[in-house]
Amino acid sequence: MAEGITHPPIEVDRRHTALYARALQAMPGGVSSPVRAFHGVGGTPLFVDRAQGPWVWDTEHNRYFDFVGSWGPLVLGHSHPAVVQAVRTAACSGTSFGAPCETELELAEWVVAHSPVAERIRFVNSGTEATMSALRLARAVTARDQVVKFDGCYHGHADPFLVKAGSGLATFGESSSAGVPASTAHCTAILPLDDLSALHAWFSEHGSKTAAVIMESVPANYGLLPQTEEWLQTVRELTRTHGSLLIVDEVITGFRLQPGGFCERVNLQADLVTYGKVIGGGLPVGAYGGPAEIMKWIAPEGPVYQAGTLSGNPLSMAAGLATLRHLEQESGWEQLEELGAYWESLLHPAIQRECEQASPISLTCVGSIFWLCFHTTESPRSIEAIPSQSKDRYQRFFHELLRRKVMMAPSAYEVGFLNLSMKKIELEAAAQEVAAALEASR
Ligand SMILES: *Cc1c(COP(=O)(O)O)cnc(C)c1O
Repeated sequence: MAEGITHPPIEVDRRHTALYARALQAMPGGVSSPVRAFHGVGGTPLFVDRAQGPWVWDTEHNRYFDFVGSWGPLVLGHSHPAVVQAVRTAACSGTSFGAPCETELELAEWVVAHSPVAERIRFVNSGTEATMSALRLARAVTARDQVVKFDGCYHGHADPFLVKAGSGLATFGESSSAGVPASTAHCTAILPLDDLSALHAWFSEHGSKTAAVIMESVPANYGLLPQTEEWLQTVRELTRTHGSLLIVDEVITGFRLQPGGFCERVNLQADLVTYGKVIGGGLPVGAYGGPAEIMKWIAPEGPVYQAGTLSGNPLSMAAGLATLRHLEQESGWEQLEELGAYWESLLHPAIQRECEQASPISLTCVGSIFWLCFHTTESPRSIEAIPSQSKDRYQRFFHELLRRKVMMAPSAYEVGFLNLSMKKIELEAAAQEVAAALEASR
């Protein structure tokens, strides 16, 4: 963040370069998850040394104001004392038991009490595991194989979800990653978001074969593409009519928007829900839940196999529970909403100014999640509506912002996250840097 003086020119830092060169010799692309490699914006990834509240420090001791927030989980900010204390206490009593524990039960009870969907919950270790397992369950319950996914939604990296729309008029998907069998991809149909006629067309032809429709409650992995109430309710009605299950993926929105997630906010009755990110308080957790009647199909009660050596481990459960309890005690969800509205109001003048300079920008905000899209003033609702030049401008903006010591995601299609550690005065300063970076990147 500006301490008032001039900013250094964009340059690749020597220590980062050295670490990255080493990383490339040890890990594919030098990273454990692809988007971290900065391929979306160019340059060398920062190596993070430590983080506290809204700040991260790189290995050069530069301090950045962080809107990435580990891509969503850190709703209280980095290294929150309540979470750290809970994890420390838990670790002293054992890091993994491979047996039920009370913290796991308490988190399960908390989720069941607050989720409008989950009467029963199964803990796994990532969002990917949650969606993959929920789909297996839906296929078992319906005795059907076909699944529908929307273009622009992300549900982790399990085979059935690494699928893109087929060419021409074909509705059945093609794999979007090497290594996914064509037969698997073929079982996933890709439909566009925000398109009622595509939904009706699919269900009138393939409804009776469709095990499940999976959707992000608010699509937030290809920009932020909130859908209309009408579209959401149409998905609900068509799945119900045709005996397909509706899986709502709340891995980002669950426990961030409000205790019952997005489903509660818009009164959307999902059949199955998936959670991740916030529910683990920054440690690896995922979960899926639904009515007791459906969840009883899971082993050991039922025939759908799904297991995990470290699932429900006491560290992750303690971090998740501490996060949720803190949110509850501190009116966290109201505060996050307020923070989101404040951030939006702070960015508004700069965006207005850019638009007047013939450099249109849209800002989309849903609670504490936000996204800037360039070359349009209208918030897109589908990936087709995102201008292709938006990406180039974002690259320039990202680097201008980074050298002003504000960190946003290294990709034009990733959203930003606010968290409760961010003070208004800090957001005001960050908004000034955003305004300067916008001007400099025109
Ligand atoms: C992050 C994410 C996932 C995958 O979760 P991982 O923990 O990264 O496996 C699934 N669905 C949505 C909506 C996500 O944002």
